[in-house]
Amino acid sequence: MTPLPPGSTIGILGGGQLGRMLSMAAAQLGYRCHIYAPDEASIAADVAAEFTCAEDDDIKALGKFADACDVITFEFENVPVAPLRIIADRVPLYPPVAALDIAQNRIAEKNFARTHGGITAPFAEVTDRASLDSAIKTVGAPAILKTIRMGYDGKGQARIKQGDDLGPHWDSVNHQPCVAEGFVTFTHEFSVILVRGQDGAIRYWDTPHNIHEDGILAESLVPAPCEIAEQEQAARSLAAKMAEAMGYVGVLTCEFFATADGPVFNEMAPRVHNSGHWTIEGAITSQFENHIRAICGLPLGDTGLAAEKVAMTNLIGGDAGQWQALLSDPANHLHLYGKGESRWGRKMGHVTKLFF
Ligand code: AMP
Repeated sequence: MTPLPPGSTIGILGGGQLGRMLSMAAAQLGYRCHIYAPDEASIAADVAAEFTCAEDDDIKALGKFADACDVITFEFENVPVAPLRIIADRVPLYPPVAALDIAQNRIAEKNFARTHGGITAPFAEVTDRASLDSAIKTVGAPAILKTIRMGYDGKGQARIKQGDDLGPHWDSVNHQPCVAEGFVTFTHEFSVILVRGQDGAIRYWDTPHNIHEDGILAESLVPAPCEIAEQEQAARSLAAKMAEAMGYVGVLTCEFFATADGPVFNEMAPRVHNSGHWTIEGAITSQFENHIRAICGLPLGDTGLAAEKVAMTNLIGGDAGQWQALLSDPANHLHLYGKGESRWGRKMGHVTKLFF
């Protein structure tokens, strides 16, 4: 494993806040970042050395991008896999395309977790209106209907209650192929955030307790309460098995529900994750820096806590307008993503507070 020397160029597919924070961590280590994204207004490009604005399936543009980079990663998991396989033949690409392939399909992802001994919510595939009826019979109600592909932050989801007319729910997911999931009774939600190096070494950050509102992450709190701590080892062991099976390199996040039966796997993100933003100030080495270290073949940094307690709060929609009030608390670390227009449900920034 020859490390990529500082001064090399890291390509990042995706132009959002995760790419922006990855670019900032890479710059600290002396690397240049080249953002590839379809949207001209890409906030990651504002802090990167190079920007290619092109569609995710533009083979010609992707090939040119690959030739200009020494290693490529992604910050967005809904990039089409087929063109990526082509560029992965030309330049190292981490995490592996196999991880994207699994994470893009909620059914493949659950089956993958089950293969490695994980527990998931009961689920059934829905391909048409008739199969929705039988799926709800199988998993029971309440249930959540989720599009198999392209869903995130609660988008592409419908919550089904006992006795609901299923027609409007099927319409609300635009008749897309879905998975119907039985509703999991949980006490808490948490995520395992790990980094795996090119030599197979794995490090975990402290486990955050994640609080969601309207399907969107609102807060991540560390350390997690004992109900989560008791389930941490089983959840980490599943995440590690999955990472090893994929030959994973970089940061991997697996989200879980803490239940009476142990940790129930919900989904994985083959990338840095919102529930790990607290690591920028709250850990010795952030998820962003360790992702860059892993993909560049550098030694991994210490993932230990840098404070007794850490709280990360997302600034969603109009919340970011409170930036002045937030800065009036000198203990707050404010991160604004530079997105122009604030819309309901849009992640505009986050604030992290350390407690000693
Ligand atoms: P997801 O997009 O799968 O992360 O879902 C967004 C949020 O919806 C989760 O963080 C949970 O709060 C909730 N949720 C998703 N699936 C289930 C489920 N099967 N049972 C209960 N709550 C769920």
